[in-house]
Amino acid sequence: MRLEGKVAVITGSDRGIGKATVERFVQEGARVVAADLAPSGLKEFENDDRVAIVLADVTQRADAERIIATAVERFGKLDILVNNAGINRDRVIWKMTDAEWSEVLEADLTACFRYVRAAIPRLRERGGGRIVSISSINAQRGKFGQSNYTASKAGIIGLSKTVAREVGQYGITVNVITPGLIATDMVAAAPEDVRTRALGEIVLGRLGEPEDVAALVTFLASDRARHITGAVIPVDGGQYL
Ligand code: NAD
Repeated sequence: MRLEGKVAVITGSDRGIGKATVERFVQEGARVVAADLAPSGLKEFENDDRVAIVLADVTQRADAERIIATAVERFGKLDILVNNAGINRDRVIWKMTDAEWSEVLEADLTACFRYVRAAIPRLRERGGGRIVSISSINAQRGKFGQSNYTASKAGIIGLSKTVAREVGQYGITVNVITPGLIATDMVAAAPEDVRTRALGEIVLGRLGEPEDVAALVTFLASDRARHITGAVIPVDGGQYL
């Protein structure tokens, strides 16, 4: 039980990587505030007092403070924040609208800033804690049609490295995971030829599973990862080699 007694907030927890992370955290002994737009995918936890399922839109300014406060109200404290919620609105830059740009920046980067800002006072109260944010390998290599998404995900890396420097003195670690192609709804929505081409890049020859990412989130959130901060770690089957 690597997260015994810990309390976590996980955003975008209804399906995919977020849901797998909720499941893994509970298996490892954590209590979790699971925040999503419409948490219908977490039915197995509806009557489970280890999970507080809450409606939240990470693009709403007030929601970050409210969700972080929920952890303290329901479970007495906060130890771990996982910034996982994310969207994409792909279009080549010369056709991208201001709305598509802003929507993705708000959901993928500004939300991360707000949740980190809201969490830090609570983690300081505990004398330390863990922040893990989900970026993407595309932040580091670019991706055709994803200028809004890759700018956001690269922003998460810069934000996290700076915050790691700022909060190391309080025993808080801040790390980033860069998944490659993972078999979730987000990827299922991509055109067939895009998926086939990406699959051809993966050295291990298969798409990742949400659990592959959840396993690293769990490790980074645990006491065993106490000397890792400011790191950017891929879970991509060698896709970015
Ligand atoms: P997904 O679309 O399956 O799940 C995303 C979750 O976030 C959903 O439950 C959705 O309801 C929630 N969400 C979206 N907007 C929200 C909002 N405004 N407020 C609250 N919740 C919101 O996606 P996934 O593949 O599980 O992706 C999870 C994270 O991993 C995302 O940040 C994504 O960018 C990143 N990622 C995914 C892949 C991949 O291949 N699947 C690769 C790299 C990075």
